[in-house]
Amino acid sequence: MKQKLADLYELQLVDIKLDSLEELRGDLPLIVNELNAQMKVLQNNIDAKQVDKYSAQTKREENDNQIKLHAENLTKYKAQLYKVRNNKEYDALTKEIDFAENGIKELNKENDELETKILVYSDEINTIEKELEKLKIEFLEKEEELTKIIQSNEKEESRLREIRNKVAEKIKKLEMNTYCRIRKAKGGIAVASIVRGACSGCHSVIPSQRQLEIKKNNRTFNCEACGRILVSAEIALEVEQKTNL
Ligand SMILES: [Zn+2]
Repeated sequence: MKQKLADLYELQLVDIKLDSLEELRGDLPLIVNELNAQMKVLQNNIDAKQVDKYSAQTKREENDNQIKLHAENLTKYKAQLYKVRNNKEYDALTKEIDFAENGIKELNKENDELETKILVYSDEINTIEKELEKLKIEFLEKEEELTKIIQSNEKEESRLREIRNKVAEKIKKLEMNTYCRIRKAKGGIAVASIVRGACSGCHSVIPSQRQLEIKKNNRTFNCEACGRILVSAEIALEVEQKTNL
């Protein structure tokens, strides 16, 4: 039983160390993810506008070809006008000429509108690209900052993880579950020691009779005030001296 309490206390010490390493990273992982997501949104926006711009350009090129055909017809019909032999032929030709002229007019009007659209798309793409560029710079800065922190703690972290794995192996699944549950609910501290007659987790005074029972290391006790697992000051000291944390 004593060993079990010692193992739990050691696990707690390692986890406190690991938590403080994680704290060094602060909000950086969150910020990096957030910036990355924002960049994706902007890039999608740019892509969508580029598709719209491209289809406007394609339509304008098609119109240009159409205008060229109409113009060729127009030249042809106008030349034919001089050779008409009767009114019927004349009427038929003027109809074709009207059709071609109207066609050119409509297509030119549409092309003007397309040109305006293309300019607007280009402007919008330009604005978003500048925004994206700014975000990219910020992203790279934050990412570098985070990588530096992670790299500088890499060795220490893997050393702590190794110790944690070894201790965790010795702890039964049920106890581990309890430990994790209390740790989650109590700000990362599941195992408290008795310091000057009080729980080190919540500073509630432990009755002396209970302190004596805890010292016997016969069973686990939880702090009546905060619910954390309690270990005696002796076990705490032993573990702190034994482990190299
Ligand atoms: Zn407590």
